[in-house]
Amino acid sequence: MVAEKIDRVARPGEIPSAVGEAAREPDELDDLYREIILDHYRCPHNKMAPGATDLTCSDRNPICGDELTLGIEMQGPCIRRVCFEGRGCSISMASASMMTDVVKDKNVEEAKDWIRTVKDLMKGVGRKSDDELGDIEALKGVAKFPVRVKCALLCWSVLEKALARQDGTRPAHGEEKGR
Ligand SMILES: [Zn+2]
Repeated sequence: MVAEKIDRVARPGEIPSAVGEAAREPDELDDLYREIILDHYRCPHNKMAPGATDLTCSDRNPICGDELTLGIEMQGPCIRRVCFEGRGCSISMASASMMTDVVKDKNVEEAKDWIRTVKDLMKGVGRKSDDELGDIEALKGVAKFPVRVKCALLCWSVLEKALARQDGTRPAHGEEKGR
């Protein structure tokens, strides 16, 4: 009775808390990129519940079943820290983990530049060198698989929505909801 709720420990090479088909290891990725993505998935950075003062924003990717909530702590125009909660495939969770690293201590404009950079990366357009990209370079491998692009972009579009709310502007593509 008691043991049932205890999280099962994943065996080597097995993805913990796999949710269906889409949560399988991204076998199709190049080895290097896959290792970076799986490192972030297994040991995500800044994965924790948002604090009471955090700006929060959530969204999901219905195609894959990824769900994500970001908590953003602002200090003036600066992002002091971003944390995330959620569940989903390795690519969506790894992308969120990477994102919390790169936007920490950046101002809003720099964060928006990162959002554009990653969106362009998914279209095969490079705006930063591999050195500048750091671990985010691994997302390049996802661009070849259109169905996984939404997984990689989920956290970035949630961040974009949160920042748009923060400074009262709309995302560049301006989705009008008619309500
Ligand atoms: Zn996914």
